[in-house]
Amino acid sequence: MNIDTKALAEKYGTPLYIYDFDYIENRYNTLKEAFAGKKSMINYAVKANSNLSVIAHLAKLGAGADCVSIGEVKRALDAGVDRYKIIFSGVGKRDDEIREALEKDILLLNLESEAEMKRVEMVAKELGKEARISIRVNPNIDPQTHPYISTGLHENKFGVEIDMAKRMYIYANRSEFLNPVGIHFHIGSQLTKLDPIREACQIVGDLVRSLRAIKIDIKFFDVGGGLGVVYDDEITISEKAYTQAIFEATKGLDLTLLCEPGRYMVANAGAFFTKVLYEKVNDGKRFVIVDGAMNDLLRPSLYDAYHKIEAVMVDGNVERTPADVVGPVCESGDFFGKNVPLPPLSHNDLLVVHSAGAYGFTMASNYNTRAKPAEVALQGGVDRLIRKRESYEDQVRLEREYL
Ligand SMILES: *Cc1c(COP(=O)(O)O)cnc(C)c1O
Repeated sequence: MNIDTKALAEKYGTPLYIYDFDYIENRYNTLKEAFAGKKSMINYAVKANSNLSVIAHLAKLGAGADCVSIGEVKRALDAGVDRYKIIFSGVGKRDDEIREALEKDILLLNLESEAEMKRVEMVAKELGKEARISIRVNPNIDPQTHPYISTGLHENKFGVEIDMAKRMYIYANRSEFLNPVGIHFHIGSQLTKLDPIREACQIVGDLVRSLRAIKIDIKFFDVGGGLGVVYDDEITISEKAYTQAIFEATKGLDLTLLCEPGRYMVANAGAFFTKVLYEKVNDGKRFVIVDGAMNDLLRPSLYDAYHKIEAVMVDGNVERTPADVVGPVCESGDFFGKNVPLPPLSHNDLLVVHSAGAYGFTMASNYNTRAKPAEVALQGGVDRLIRKRESYEDQVRLEREYL
């Protein structure tokens, strides 16, 4: 980001999230162009960053939304996503969520088990509606990513096996209250290898062909999300190679191609800014204690995820020595980086934690009664607040009346 982040940190306070909306626009357009010549829809995975202004920005560009709770569906609608571009996914939908999604008449519900299909059928019957559905197939492919974010193996809780999917399609096709219009898979997150995606596309493409043969006409082919991004020195999948793999697997089929990128769209649009409180050395080990913590940005603690950390506007020639960057929360796991090469720092110096736009704020909590940080958008060189910093009052509002 080519801006005076120090001034922004002063203006809005720290800890602070800043998102580059021009970068998001560029990502959306690049991916959309890679689908040129085909019917396609990009359903932004709202869970990556569900700030209303982020969703609204993508909606204006034409994006749809992939949601995993009725709350996210409401956010998408609030932010101006067209209802016929909204997908509701997730392994455990409650009856009231199913009902509301059907009432709101969104594009489709993505089903992850036979039991869920029966539930959706029942609710649709109660409403006298036909539910548009897709089924999440688990193609049993190792996505070669972190086991916590791998979802496409039978040992994972997600989706159903091919044979089960087929039985479900046959059932749904006969049901008065179900309309099986889509097929879906999502094999994992932070994918940097194309082969697992290509393989999954082929397996699921073949399933579409065999369904056509029995007159079940799938219209939406949804390849999920998972496109990896650069946190460190990863070599990621090119958009063109990605869409080519999808095109090849679906050759000859008249389908609308859907994908659900989350991280791809926003991870590197965002940075997390935190100020140095103190430095200390314990038995020769250097610690930099900052005002941000795991409750603001959980990924390092949760996944041992790497985020590049730098001191803002410090002379490049200053000698750097390794330090652990840690927060004030009472957990040993409360760190942003280990052995980070940093210059000597003093009180109020600013650090930037890069690549924090995805699964950053959305995983934030109020642990230790810490208020969630503010969020700021940058667009065309102009900054604007898109979420106020939480106050203590915001945190106790739902408890006070019972005191
Ligand atoms: C989490 C998720 C996504 C987005 O994953 P990214 O790795 O952020 O692209 C897409 N689809 C489904 C079903 C998901 O659960």
